[in-house]
Amino acid sequence: MKRLRLATVWLAGCSGCHMSLLDLDEWLFELAGKVELVYSPIADVKRFPAEVDVTLVEGAVANRDNLELIRRVRRNSRLLISFGDCAITGNVTALRNPLGDPAPLLRRVYVDNVEFPSGAPPSEEGIVPRLLERVQPVHEVVSVDLYLPGCPPSAARIRAALEPLLAGEIPHLQGEQLRFG
Ligand code: SF4
Repeated sequence: MKRLRLATVWLAGCSGCHMSLLDLDEWLFELAGKVELVYSPIADVKRFPAEVDVTLVEGAVANRDNLELIRRVRRNSRLLISFGDCAITGNVTALRNPLGDPAPLLRRVYVDNVEFPSGAPPSEEGIVPRLLERVQPVHEVVSVDLYLPGCPPSAARIRAALEPLLAGEIPHLQGEQLRFG
């Protein structure tokens, strides 16, 4: 039987959603028998591959690297799941939004108020990517197929979403499973 090609992506988030994924404990062995993990921060794959069946996306879109990656993820994922509150609403990551464009603040911190300024805030695509003016939840940038709320979603909730997918069905989370926070 063809195994489901599964990916997990870490954008601007604290990695807590991925920690919760690891909390699936022994069920991870069962999962490993049914999926091929083709991309994840817990696997050493550098480039998001083509033809992924299901992708869990943790975190919001906060910088140019996030933006580039989420567009590539969308092009190559059959089903994209917003995984956790940061992906769905911006949550903690978006707390900076009321301050507006972060450029003046970065300049103040890295240039104006330091003894030996380098002349500009650190910026290097792929290493220190430029921040976007505003943090965006994933669905504001690309289309999302399913939402898995929680900060982080519990392991039980993650399993409730993945089990139907493994059976070729769309999960229908309801009640407590849809709670934020
Ligand atoms: Fe971390 Fe919560 Fe955001 Fe997940 S939803 S990345 S646990 S802050």
